[in-house]
Amino acid sequence: MVRDISAYLTILRSAGFKLTPKRKSVINLFLKEKRTLVPQEVHEKVKRVISPLGLPTIYRILEELSSIGVLVSVVSDERLLSYALCSRPQEHHHHFICRGCKRIEEVDYCGLEDAEKAIQEKLGCRIDSHLFQVEGICSNCLNKKG
Ligand SMILES: [Zn+2]
Ligand SMILES: [Zn+2]
Ligand SMILES: [Zn+2]
Repeated sequence: MVRDISAYLTILRSAGFKLTPKRKSVINLFLKEKRTLVPQEVHEKVKRVISPLGLPTIYRILEELSSIGVLVSVVSDERLLSYALCSRPQEHHHHFICRGCKRIEEVDYCGLEDAEKAIQEKLGCRIDSHLFQVEGICSNCLNKKG
C-alpha cells in the first residue's frame, strides 16, 4: 500500500515519468484530501503553491497520472470527471466510491475472471482489461446517519 509521496516517485520513475514539482503538488494534494476531486478543484488548490499554472496543464497531469494507475478517474451521474488517488497502482483491483464523502476505497474483490472467460468463448476474442467500479455510501457515512 502506498501512503506517501516517495512510493509514488518509484512508480512514476518506472513508468518513465519525472516527479516534477507540478506532479508532486498534485499527488500531495490528493494525499491530503483523501477524496475525489474535479480538475477545477485541483487547479484551484495547486495554483496556490505553483503559479502560473494553467488548467490545461492540470488536465494533462491528471491524464498522465491516471494512465499509469496512480489516479483513478470517476464519472459522476452528471457526467463530470473527477479523480482520486489509488494506493496500490501496481495490483489488479477495483474501487468503491462513496457518494456521501467522496472517499474511495480499495476493493480486493474482482470476480470478473469467469465473466471474461465466458465472453472470450462467446466472441472468440482475447480480453486484456476490464472496468468495474462500485458506488454507494461508505460505512463511515452509514454510521453517521444511523
Ligand atoms: Zn486503487
Ligand atoms: Zn462516505
Ligand atoms: Zn477485476
